[in-house]
Amino acid sequence: MFRLHVGSDEETPEAVYKIPCKNCERAYVGETGKPLGATVKECRVEVDSITGIFTRAEKTRAASICNKSAITDHVCNENHVIDWENAKVIDRESDKASRLIREAIWIRKTDNMNRDEGSYQLSHVWDRLLHTDDRHWKSVLMKASDVKPKR
Ligand SMILES: [Zn+2]
Repeated sequence: MFRLHVGSDEETPEAVYKIPCKNCERAYVGETGKPLGATVKECRVEVDSITGIFTRAEKTRAASICNKSAITDHVCNENHVIDWENAKVIDRESDKASRLIREAIWIRKTDNMNRDEGSYQLSHVWDRLLHTDDRHWKSVLMKASDVKPKR
């Protein structure tokens, strides 16, 4: 079982993070080796460039930007607004390989807008454990929501 070091080692920028949507329950889950603020800023620049585009024709023209990431995809296809202010670190791990495994676990545990299951191919053997142990995971997620990223 993977232990989640939620809230530990606040100094490491390497983390798994979650960016929620304002309009629905879905969130984007990703991992980064950079501070969360810088990562969010990069995602936001792409989304801001397509914000306010609502007609089909304009959307078609902006298609290349829309397809850039799972977040821009969600904004274009659903016309939803991303809740940047509530982007948060949900797990910390400085080791890249371990971080990718954690990212895959969090993607599977989150009602996500991701286009894939992450870089690590998490075996579906884990599904039963991840889904039957929901109470434990909910408490982990609740604790994770108390973690404030450093700015
Ligand atoms: Zn949404």
